[in-house]
Amino acid sequence: MDTKSNELLNKDEKYVWHAMRYYNPDATMVIREGDGAWVTDINENSYLDGMSGLWCVNVGYGREELAQASYEQMKKLPYFPMTQSHIPAIKLGEKINEWLGDDYVMFFSNSGSEANETAFKMVRQFHQQNGEPERQKFISRYRAYHGNTMGSLAATGQAERKYRYEPLAPGFLHVTPPDMYRSPYKGTKEEQSIACADEIDRVMTWELDKTIAAVIMEPIITGGGVIMPHDSYLQRVRDICDKHGALLIIDEVICGFGRTGKPFGFQNYGVKPDIVTMAKGVTSAYLPLSVTAVRREVYESFMGTEEYDNFRHVNTFGGNPTSCAVALKNIEILERENLVERSATMGERLLDEMSELEEHPYVGDVRGKGLLLGIELVENKETKEPATSDKLDSVISFCKQKGLIIGKNGDTVAGYNNILTLSPPLSITEEDFKFITKTVKEAFAQL
Ligand code: PLP
Repeated sequence: MDTKSNELLNKDEKYVWHAMRYYNPDATMVIREGDGAWVTDINENSYLDGMSGLWCVNVGYGREELAQASYEQMKKLPYFPMTQSHIPAIKLGEKINEWLGDDYVMFFSNSGSEANETAFKMVRQFHQQNGEPERQKFISRYRAYHGNTMGSLAATGQAERKYRYEPLAPGFLHVTPPDMYRSPYKGTKEEQSIACADEIDRVMTWELDKTIAAVIMEPIITGGGVIMPHDSYLQRVRDICDKHGALLIIDEVICGFGRTGKPFGFQNYGVKPDIVTMAKGVTSAYLPLSVTAVRREVYESFMGTEEYDNFRHVNTFGGNPTSCAVALKNIEILERENLVERSATMGERLLDEMSELEEHPYVGDVRGKGLLLGIELVENKETKEPATSDKLDSVISFCKQKGLIIGKNGDTVAGYNNILTLSPPLSITEEDFKFITKTVKEAFAQL
């Protein structure tokens, strides 16, 4: 390492407070630039970013077009508040609605956490406007992550992220996730999934359904360990919400914009959410932007009464014109390069190849959809005892030495921090694909 790199690392140590470092059990990487699926650090080491940053750089790094869109928009109009409107926000609202394939109205914010907070406030006000002010509680699943703010963290079902910060926002309940590898229920995968969904039905009854505001869930739990329900699960949840008069919020912060091989993850399961939250892939993380998309019927209940003809919620930066312009260009790239379809076909191949790892004594389960993959490590295939973190770190370190960044759900889910994750840019080349599969297989061979 040269003196300049050393100096940078020392200053990093001194001035920069890092978020959880669990993706990187070794030394901090100081990344200088990126191109395609690859990033290069200050010591000229290159890595294929198998996690797209934090599951977000869907079109890959180094897209000149996005830089250009940002530059052009910043020159024309860098900012105007969304208490009024501007052209990029209008165009983006229309485009996202087209991707949702229905009739939604968009509220713009800056992060996934904020998109979920916004949804919670909308839902509570919606019920007040409809004469049911006592509908205030939300139901989500254990193991799911929904953000780091007091409400979205309360919705989160990962105790290790929460316990130092409690009490969080009140009124959040949790149920068992549809983990088909560790289901507490018996029967076929479909029966187990339905049994998990039916917990929501029971909780709604036991809590008094007239106090339940909404259910929030990702189509596939991502950060909590790539937990895949049977195809019938989400429709069952939709039916349960309808039966009890609760709304359904689908968190597409990771699953959206092609990650699971469909424009949005819920479209794999044929349901119609009341609210869809999104962030990350909307700009491929080139700029901050998030969206709370609300079905028109829900939106319209906010109109027309003197007391409630607005949603008393504003943020300074949400829907920033430059972020919206970059989002529009990002979606144009996803469409032009057929990256959603590519995610589906490459994802199928990735799952196929990586499923070979199930032969390995420490691999209990390999699962995924689109370019989203989880590899669950166990000490013992019979007992399914979760593998110790040194085994996951050994695979991660080996991959890193070979030039591949992969992730793990470390330090998040009490007792089950044993899942390695892959979520590469949707634009990975054939060569990138081969590099990922070869390197991960080698890493397990040395384990
Ligand atoms: N929802 C999900 C499913 C997420 O994975 C995340 C972040 O990883 C969030 C919400 C929060 O998004 P942000 O980090 O942009 O606040």
